[in-house]
Amino acid sequence: MPDTLKLPTFDDVAAAALRLEGHAHRTPVLRSRTADEELGAQLFFKCENLQRMGAFKFRGAFNALAKFDPAQRRGGVVAFSSGNHAQAIALSARILGMPATIVMPHDAPAAKVAATRGYGGQVVIYDRYKDDREQIGRELAQKHGMTLIPPYDHPDVMAGQGTAAKELFEETGPLDALFVPLGGGGLLSGSALATRALAPQCKLYGVEPEAGNDGQQSFRSGRIVHIDTPKTIADGAQTQHLGQHTFAIIRRDVDDVLTASDAQLVEAMRFFATRMKLVVEPTGCLGFAAARAMKAQLHGLRVGVLISGGNVDVERLGALLAG
Ligand SMILES: *Cc1c(COP(=O)(O)O)cnc(C)c1O
Repeated sequence: MPDTLKLPTFDDVAAAALRLEGHAHRTPVLRSRTADEELGAQLFFKCENLQRMGAFKFRGAFNALAKFDPAQRRGGVVAFSSGNHAQAIALSARILGMPATIVMPHDAPAAKVAATRGYGGQVVIYDRYKDDREQIGRELAQKHGMTLIPPYDHPDVMAGQGTAAKELFEETGPLDALFVPLGGGGLLSGSALATRALAPQCKLYGVEPEAGNDGQQSFRSGRIVHIDTPKTIADGAQTQHLGQHTFAIIRRDVDDVLTASDAQLVEAMRFFATRMKLVVEPTGCLGFAAARAMKAQLHGLRVGVLISGGNVDVERLGALLAG
């Protein structure tokens, strides 16, 4: 780990929770008798699909922006994102009264682009398969004096994301296992800080799309593995690599990284829609898909599942469930 890396701690998660009070929803923890019966376990679903702007990303974005100094607030924020981070930054910037520019891929879901514009964010489009989004974001930041807030590899973002798991443990008490969707690792690393502080014995699993298992490769090899943009329906986890900060915590505090196939994600989406009346986007289904596949090892346990987001066009939801 480079000396310059300043990792957040649980104190930062607790401080983020105070900043978020009155701004983020304390999302419900839902139960399902059908899920409990299927797995022979007690399941606790933390519903960040019901968070403001439809995903946990509001937590990290708001926490990071709330810490800006007056000069940064005047310059505003720039972000690059496949969708939910974009909406989170745009909404947080609007609440805090600063300008926001969002760099988005050409194939981002229409609902996410529209919602970002709706929250007042200025959208710049790039080609996901050709352009380097981080370079575009950095150039904008330099030219216009804006502060770049990355979607996951930032201590304030990670600390903010950890507040969801903190709320979950506060409500349920210790759990035996917790399943968390994994893209670049902001949510998983923040959840790890909360888990190790509030439920140290709890097994913590990150779950990635099968087509993009760079996190699993990184976790098992001990170095950050880079991959091409994976083709998966889980558009919120199409990341090419973990972050330096997120990986340092994931390595230290997470028990394993698992994967789920697109077919398993569709089946989980179907379960949420039909049994729990919840709209969950494909990426939000990663945790439950992996828990179902691990059923034999979860028998009799208390199991947390983090549902990370619900931003899916209804047309796409219908097509995925019909297909
Ligand atoms: C961003 C996102 C993820 C992945 O989060 P990371 O912090 O990048 O690991 C998972 N689910 C949803 C809905 C997301 O928007």
